Amino acid sequence: MSPVPPEINVPPRLAETRQRMAQALQENGRPATAAQLIAISKTKSATEIRPLLRAGHRLFGENRVQEAKTKWPPLKAQYGDVELHLVGPLQTNKVKEAVALFDVIQTLDREKLARKLAELKGESSFPRLLIQVNTGDEPQKSGVSPSELAAFYELCRDELALRIDGLMCLPPQGEPAGAHFVLLGKLAAQLGLDTLSMGMSGDFETALALGATHIRVGTALFGARD
Ligand SMILES: *Cc1c(COP(=O)(O)O)cnc(C)c1O
Repeated sequence: MSPVPPEINVPPRLAETRQRMAQALQENGRPATAAQLIAISKTKSATEIRPLLRAGHRLFGENRVQEAKTKWPPLKAQYGDVELHLVGPLQTNKVKEAVALFDVIQTLDREKLARKLAELKGESSFPRLLIQVNTGDEPQKSGVSPSELAAFYELCRDELALRIDGLMCLPPQGEPAGAHFVLLGKLAAQLGLDTLSMGMSGDFETALALGATHIRVGTALFGARD
């Protein structure tokens, strides 16, 4: 008996999000392949994640190393082509675990972390890296200040020989996100970087209009978190 084609079993929220994403790309004259959907599965159980995997979705993001470590190894063993992104702050004492588990770390945000990562560069599982930019210069938020980004990028690239793929941001709450997405795009262009991780459930269409290559969507795919 042949397996059911995955498209038949797409969960409605995944289908709808894919549809909205495709439409936003099309309306902005961007190819359908210009951006990728990262399903942010933080706080969601393996049982809630599996329907997306069964529907063929492979890009996921988590914000805590510890939580990801309990959930993802069995899922990754079953679905070998899963790509797991870390989208939350990374403590230096968890870098080794993070390097082993994640395919992309989106939250490189300080020199100490960059130096720790550079020590592990030789590992076969070494992840791709994005720098998190604190576009709103919010004191409580992690991320490199826009004014310090060029120097930090050069430290990573030249002194530490870390390859940086792009930038990520998390705009201030209660502010229109568009200006922050524009800023992130400008900063990336100045550095010659082409990966832009920006846009969440509430604003991913805006992000796609402004050049996002990766959107990070939780609530719209899984429903509200407790
Ligand atoms: C939780 C989270 C998201 C997803 O947020 P939703 O509003 O649920 O789509 C995206 N990015 C980061 C960094 C997050 O922590």
